[in-house]
This record gives sequence, structure tokens and C-alpha cells, in this order.
Amino acid sequence: MEKIPFITKEKAEEICKTYPTPFHIYDERGIRENARRVKQAFAWNKGFREYFAVKATPNPFILKILQEEGCGVDCSSLTELEMSDACGFSGSDIMFSSNVTPAEDYRLAYKLGAYINLDDFTHIDYLEQLTGIPETICCRFNAGGKFTISTHIMDSPQDAKYGMTRDQMFEAFRVLQKKGAKRFGIHSFLASNTVTNEYYPTLARQMFQLAVDLKNETGADIRFINLSGGVGVAYRPDQTPNDILAIGEGVRKVYEEILTPNGLGDVAIFTEMGRFMLAPYGALVTRVLHKKHIYKEYVGCDACAANLMRPAMYGSYHHITVLGKEHEPCTYKCDVTGGLCENNDKFAIDRMLPPTEIGDLIYIHDTGAHGFSMGYNYNGKLRSAELLYKEDGTVQLIRRAETPADYFATFDFCGIMDKYLNK
Ligand SMILES: *Cc1c(COP(=O)(O)O)cnc(C)c1O
Repeated sequence: MEKIPFITKEKAEEICKTYPTPFHIYDERGIRENARRVKQAFAWNKGFREYFAVKATPNPFILKILQEEGCGVDCSSLTELEMSDACGFSGSDIMFSSNVTPAEDYRLAYKLGAYINLDDFTHIDYLEQLTGIPETICCRFNAGGKFTISTHIMDSPQDAKYGMTRDQMFEAFRVLQKKGAKRFGIHSFLASNTVTNEYYPTLARQMFQLAVDLKNETGADIRFINLSGGVGVAYRPDQTPNDILAIGEGVRKVYEEILTPNGLGDVAIFTEMGRFMLAPYGALVTRVLHKKHIYKEYVGCDACAANLMRPAMYGSYHHITVLGKEHEPCTYKCDVTGGLCENNDKFAIDRMLPPTEIGDLIYIHDTGAHGFSMGYNYNGKLRSAELLYKEDGTVQLIRRAETPADYFATFDFCGIMDKYLNK
């Protein structure tokens, strides 16, 4: 499917007068429409809720939009809990799906009344000693082996650090009941960025059968099943995007086949999507600073891997549009790079673009999730601003760009950097 930027070159140039490149920009309309489709897809399930994975796009303004659309939040750290608390999420609005969890994180999750999702059997005692066991508790399942859809291997849960084995799940439920837990949830995340409508239904079949077995063998009162994240997006123009309505319908069929006849027809379905909720509705806009020709052609931008790490880290494809040249033929083969002293700092390698010039605006698609949030400060590069392209066509600053004073802020105790600390 052709990838079309949600802002034009004219709009982008206008924005640049106030907010210089690079910046991440998010499309409010796209976010809201997609969130409504997700809700519609699971409307058949009375207790359904999407808990947006905060790590994908940890910005209070984005969380507020999703809150207005009825979403909760999935947190896995102290600061994600604090941001969610500050945005007005509390109690059953919060899933706390952490691993290797520090004590203070569990304490805050407990205090906020979040659903706590235990990553490991040993966390039962750990949590009990910290806060006591809440009446509603969730356990994370790792199915082991390979996760396959028909014969295609999607991922290898056996190599993943998360969750409990099947035996541990049963033992955890027994122990938790003895320690006072009254209501249960189960959770599993078995494959990442799946671009197939079969992922959730296939995962649901495993989870639903496990829920039936857990109920039958331990007598536990299971209230929710959390299918977690992993629903992917079509980063490449030749991929077919997931159809969330088909996904919801696929889960409904399995629900009616397995849960309803086993007396579990009231169980709520939860999801914890990050990528699917936000990735297509964000873009990184950057300007071409330099071009060079050596053994290859290079287009150098004012953004770098510190603003978008996925290509450098995973070799991920992100589609690129040169704004204003949407309809020109892609006859120019180049690497699109940032300025880190690190040769993996390339947004694209051997990409065919329209002939690109210094000063052109480069629009990197699908950076709305795991984009800005994976940013870092290597080479002293600063994090960019985040902007919201609102439904009324105006643009709102939702995070200012870092300044050198932010970069040096952690030396505020010693005086050495005071010259650059706005003191
Ligand atoms: C990362 C994560 C998610 C979100 O994953 P996506 O691939 O963005 O959908 C959900 N739940 C947990 C526990 C996660 O770690």
C-alpha cells in the first residue's frame, strides 16, 4: 500500500519556522480513529480494554488522547507508573507488566491499585513481603518452544526471558490462592511485530485453553486474559496491514469455541498494544544537511539514530518520503544517514529516492511507537521535540527539544558544567 505522509511539504516548512528539525510529529486524527477501530473490533467482549504500552510512546499528551478513547495503560517501570498516575490513570486503568522488578516499582504499582502481572514464580514471595498479595493478581505465561502459525515460525518463546512455565503457572495459582488472591488474570506475549491477522487468534487459543485448565485444576476465579502486544504494522509499502476487525472476529470465534462452553463466558479480554496503536501515526521529520559521494552516495540528515534507533539496532525498514517530491521517480540510490560517529547510523541503505538535495525535508514514516522513546544521547546528541498535529490542523508542542543544559543537568552537583547549565 502506498505510504502517504500525513503532512505536506508546505505544512512541514510552516512548522519548521517555529520548531526546527528534527522533530517527531503525531497525527491525532489517525490515533483516535485507530483506537476506535480497536474498541469496535472487540466490542463483542463486555470487559474488553486496551492498555496502551507506555514504553512505545511515553508522552502525557498522547496518553491523554488514548485515555479519552477509553484506553488504560500498560507500565513496566517506576517512571511509567508515575507518568500514568500524573495523567489520572489509577486502579484498574493500569496493568503493571514488568520483569526483574525493583521493590519501589512494585510498591508504587500496589499503591496505585494497578493490576500486577507477575513475571516469575519467585515474585510471589517478593511481592508478599513488600506489599502483601492483592486480591486480583495476574501471572505471565511463557509457552516455551517455538510459536508457529500453521507451519511458519513467528518467534521462539523458549529463548525469551519472560513469564512462567506451564507447571509454574499452576503452582503460582495454588500458592497465590493460599496467600489470599481471589481473582486472577493471565498474560502472554509470544511474538513481536506480527503482520498477520492470525497472531491474536492463535495466541488466544493457547491462552483460553490454559485458562480452562487452570480453572479446572485450581478452582481459580479467572477474570481476564491479557493478549499483550505484538500486533504489528506494515512498515514496508508491499506489506498488507493487519485488519483489526478481522483480528477481533478471530479472537471472538476462539472465545466462543473454548471459553463460553467451559463456563468462562464472562472473562474480559485485555490487550497491551503499543506499536499497533501508535507507530503509523508518528513520523520523524529531518532536513538534509549534507550530501557526499565516495564509494556510495550519502544523504546526511540533522536527525540520527539517537532520534530513531530501530534501523541501527534491528536493521528495521522505515519508509522514507522526500517531502514535495512524492510524485517524482525514485532514480537516486543512496544511504540516508545521521551524524553519529557510528557506522550503523543509517536510516536507510541503498534506498531508491527521488533526486534529493541539501535542504530537502525527509519524512521517515511509522516512528510513532518505539521511535522517540528508544532515543539516547550518544555523541552528546540531543533528543528532539515531539509535536502533535491536531484534528483542527494546528500543531501543538507536546515535548520541547532537549538543550545542552538538559544534557549536562546530571552534573548540577559539582560546578564544573555550570557555564552551560543556565544557572
Ligand atoms: C513492549 C510490550 C508491549 C507492547 O508491544 P508492541 O509490540 O508495541 O505491541 C506490551 N506488553 C508488554 C509487557 C511489553 O513489554
